[in-house]
Amino acid sequence: MYKIVFFCIPAHGHTNPTLGVVKELVSRGHQVWYYSYDLFREKIQATGATYISCDPFDAELQLSPEEAARLGKDLALSTRVLTDTALALDSVVCAHMQQLQPDCIVADSMAVWGKAVARKLNIPFVSSTTTFAFNRQSAKVLKQSPAELVRMLFAMPKIQKEIRRLQQAGYPINNLLDILQNDDNTHTVVYTSPEFQPCSDTFSDKYAFVGPSLRPAASSITKTRDTLVYISMGTVDNAMLPLYRQLISQLTHTEYQVILSVGDRVPLSALEPLPPHISAYPQVDQIAVLQKADVFLSHGGMNSVSESLYYGVPLVLLPQTTEQRGVTAQVCRLGAGLEPKDTSGPSLLAAIQTILANPGYREAAGRISESFRRCPGASGAADKIESVCRQHLR
Ligand code: UDP
Repeated sequence: MYKIVFFCIPAHGHTNPTLGVVKELVSRGHQVWYYSYDLFREKIQATGATYISCDPFDAELQLSPEEAARLGKDLALSTRVLTDTALALDSVVCAHMQQLQPDCIVADSMAVWGKAVARKLNIPFVSSTTTFAFNRQSAKVLKQSPAELVRMLFAMPKIQKEIRRLQQAGYPINNLLDILQNDDNTHTVVYTSPEFQPCSDTFSDKYAFVGPSLRPAASSITKTRDTLVYISMGTVDNAMLPLYRQLISQLTHTEYQVILSVGDRVPLSALEPLPPHISAYPQVDQIAVLQKADVFLSHGGMNSVSESLYYGVPLVLLPQTTEQRGVTAQVCRLGAGLEPKDTSGPSLLAAIQTILANPGYREAAGRISESFRRCPGASGAADKIESVCRQHLR
């Protein structure tokens, strides 16, 4: 039996894929502790792991609403939040790890405090990567726009300051890439298939591409028209009333059944009146909807895209962040979706119609779906983590 400690950030997309892995490890007789956030307490406890709350330490939870909206887009702010959290957790986590003596720490690639503690105390480490794995080659495919590179350059001095704060606390970290990316020597679980990961053949055998980890549908959706169009901009940056209004006005005159998931910051009354073939909800059972959908208009979040492709549903993509632009680039490169030329109503409708009129998009999505279904999933991730624990004991 091994003692394994998980760390994650307060995000559904980063937490959900790990839950099946934790459940699998517990069912194999291992003991798991999970440092996470009260929002996920019940889900984590349901896996059989011991939940430990990071809420009192998390810098993200103390941001103003304006700052919170910039997180993920503003690199300097994002680095400051990660550093503040790492330093706030430092003494508590180090003391716990020294007492527990775990066989392995598994940390989300953004939960830098987990990786930093593993390095500081020399504990075997597995990175859990819910986005694409990143190295020089994959970075080229997931290309960043010149504007983003300029933003990154301006953010650099501030980021160096954060790195010095970590170094002063005893963390052996040299640069930004050191914190956020893994090198070829880092054991890494990646929740996608080798076929969907850009340049998967350029990663060392320390990387396990285990495929997306999907929860089952909790309900079923009735299809009322031949074609079902599903629209969701994810769970984070989804207060996009003008976009929803534009889509509704374009889709009102079509034959499609339309389901919109708009989040809880857009009052449904602001979208009324809706014709009978269009329905809007604060949130839906996305897996159930995707099992019936013909096209998904999405922000390009890694989970939404993986779920869509798992069910062979091609996508229209409106990426908002660097990560989503990378996912969008890869979906488009593999022919399973497209990005409209702009976000005007007519362009969005034209993109949806293009996807529906060309079976090639669905076929490409189907090929990626097959690659996902060939992956070992949660049990492959558990095998990888066990192998790192075993090496430690030798
Ligand atoms: N989701 C859902 N119902 C909704 C909207 C989203 O269940 O109405 C789930 C979706 O299935 C996915 C996650 O929320 O697992 C969104 O993750 P993603 O990485 O796509 O985007 P984020 O919300 O992190 O931007």
